[in-house]
Amino acid sequence: MISVENLTKSFGDNVVLDHISTAFPAEETTVILGPSGSGKSTFLRSLNLLERPESGVLHLEDLTIDYAQPISSKTTLAARQVTEMVFQSFNLFPHLTVLKNIIEGPVHVLKTPKADAEKEARELLQQVGLADKADSYPAQLSGGQAQRVAIARSLAMHPRYILLDEPTSALDPELELEVLKVLLKIHDENQSMIIVTHNMSFAKQVANKILFLEHGKMRYDGPTAGFFNSDDARIQAFLASMT
Ligand code: ATP
Ligand code: MG
Repeated sequence: MISVENLTKSFGDNVVLDHISTAFPAEETTVILGPSGSGKSTFLRSLNLLERPESGVLHLEDLTIDYAQPISSKTTLAARQVTEMVFQSFNLFPHLTVLKNIIEGPVHVLKTPKADAEKEARELLQQVGLADKADSYPAQLSGGQAQRVAIARSLAMHPRYILLDEPTSALDPELELEVLKVLLKIHDENQSMIIVTHNMSFAKQVANKILFLEHGKMRYDGPTAGFFNSDDARIQAFLASMT
């Protein structure tokens, strides 16, 4: 389980996250929704220590981090073994093959023997529908394929949670679908995920839980059905704006 208590983050005078407290249940998918600029990316990045809130407490399984205190690089490393961010811009190493991209972390960080890492990488490529691309280079992939490799690469690190910030925003609709299918499959396998998305039908399908941020405040924190059937005028207005 991941949880935060009273997470507060400002950029200058702009309070972007205002005393956010919530929990992300393990083996479930939590989807973060909200208007543009509401603080979704900042919140997600705070969970991975890519942003540094001024105050609040982060619980990552049995690791507790007080944002107001200095955070050692050892703690940061430990935190990033619980949560792994899949970056929007894919961040694949252009000079390495797909297979080598995937085994890089397991071999160098987790110290997995190379043969074992390769075996698992091939299984993960199978899982994301790219078994035939092991020896391709990133430049030879479509955007959707590159994003699926990025997901496989994250899974290879065995994080408890994978974090995705608008995983399909850079993709054409037909490529988007193949990535969403992979995420739905991973969800069905009980991988814990936290996803920021603007795709409401995907959110409805994949989320066990919805968080709705507005102006840095948590306006909804609860089950998916309750969100989509909400009689809160702000939520209804948001949903209307998304269709
Ligand atoms: P979107 O849906 O457009 O991606 P978001 O909900 O992810 O929006 P954030 O990127 O978290 O929103 O930004 C929240 C607020 O914080 C915005 O007002 C933004 O301008 C501000 N902000 C984000 N990053 C920085 C930064 N590095 N410096 C200053 N302000 C920032
Ligand atoms: Mg964002």
